Amino acid sequence: MKTAPSPLHVSSANGVYLHLASGEQLIDAISSWWCVIHGYRHPVLDQAVRDQLNQVAHVMLGGLVHSSTEQLAETIVSICPTGLSHCFFSDSGSVGVEVALKIAYQYYQNRGQSEKSNFVAYRGSYHGDTTGCMGVSDPTDGMHVAYGKLVRHAHFLPPIDHGFFPDNCQLQADIAILESFLDAHAQTTAAIIIEPILQAAGGFRIHSPAYLQALRRLTEAADVLLICDEVATGIGRTGQWFAVNHADICPDIMVLGKGLTGGYLGLAATVTTTPVFDQFYGDDDGTALMHGPTFMGNPLACAVAKASLELMVSENRLAAISRISSQFHRNFDEWTHPAVREIRILGAMLAIECCGPVDFHHAQSVAIQNGVWLRPIDNVIYSMPPYIIPPDELDIICDAIKTIVRSIPTPV
Ligand SMILES: *Cc1c(COP(=O)(O)O)cnc(C)c1O
Repeated sequence: MKTAPSPLHVSSANGVYLHLASGEQLIDAISSWWCVIHGYRHPVLDQAVRDQLNQVAHVMLGGLVHSSTEQLAETIVSICPTGLSHCFFSDSGSVGVEVALKIAYQYYQNRGQSEKSNFVAYRGSYHGDTTGCMGVSDPTDGMHVAYGKLVRHAHFLPPIDHGFFPDNCQLQADIAILESFLDAHAQTTAAIIIEPILQAAGGFRIHSPAYLQALRRLTEAADVLLICDEVATGIGRTGQWFAVNHADICPDIMVLGKGLTGGYLGLAATVTTTPVFDQFYGDDDGTALMHGPTFMGNPLACAVAKASLELMVSENRLAAISRISSQFHRNFDEWTHPAVREIRILGAMLAIECCGPVDFHHAQSVAIQNGVWLRPIDNVIYSMPPYIIPPDELDIICDAIKTIVRSIPTPV
């Protein structure tokens, strides 16, 4: 707080625009940390919240249930890969991941295989900020270095960044590392957790559907659960409903958050299969999943999430995402700059990896001068715009990013 510039005061927002108290307006190039997928103040979502307010804002989900919660669970199951059939609701992506880890751990406890208690994750990954999540997020690369001794760390596999269309040697090498790890350690491993296809906050690295297919095949053969953290990638961001759809696989557990409510309210869903659910469903109370957040299945959040998922279809967001992707390609395929190491585009995501660290405050102030709100992460300048962004506004974002890059002092 002491070193950061004071935050900009937002007085209102509409569509892709943030209106500042100063009178300026900025195009939000990052959808308020990737969640405002339909833009601000979408009339259908505003109305969904108002309608739900006329019924009830919140009731506990222990011993009581509400139709907005039930209907959202049905909607989620209908759009998830076939096989994912049970939903657990919580209030943020981090808690959704915690629940996934607890499910995986307890699944083997309940089966009497208590030795299967370890987790495996990838270097560079980011799965949230709570203590369990820090244990599966990169311990040195990310933002959790200060908490080393507080956390029970997973085993980390090397980062996979062989791209969406990989070189076959690289793909086989990455699969071989996974295979030899599982050969040696499947006995003691409960689950592997991955951000499928796109490792988001930890560097915007992309891997191939073929790797994800191998990961599914090998974890299944080794009796290790596969957790796909789709908090960032889910609900269209990578060009499909879910990143796992690129590989046509079904994980054992999948976590949704961020875009789920269109950015209106905090909500996450941890979705799992019937075989996993069945390990918790029994006559002995001790086998139940012990997790009961106060705001579990909040009706306001569930109502707006259901309306948001319906908008994905009724306003054909997948077509819009594909248009955004093409426009990113048109703007950047032929563009190079000595300060840029690699440009990666996938669905409605553009990541410009720079050769050296990007001065965060400088980048942000250049963006603001150009009418754009964005926030680089380490050496990556990125955009994940709302899916409703018009072409002119998207061009303004692309131009602002080029201006930022040109203003970076070139390495000597
Ligand atoms: C943002 C994010 C989370 C954490 O979600 P919060 O709602 O911020 O707690 C978890 N996993 C991934 C992949 C994310 O991008």
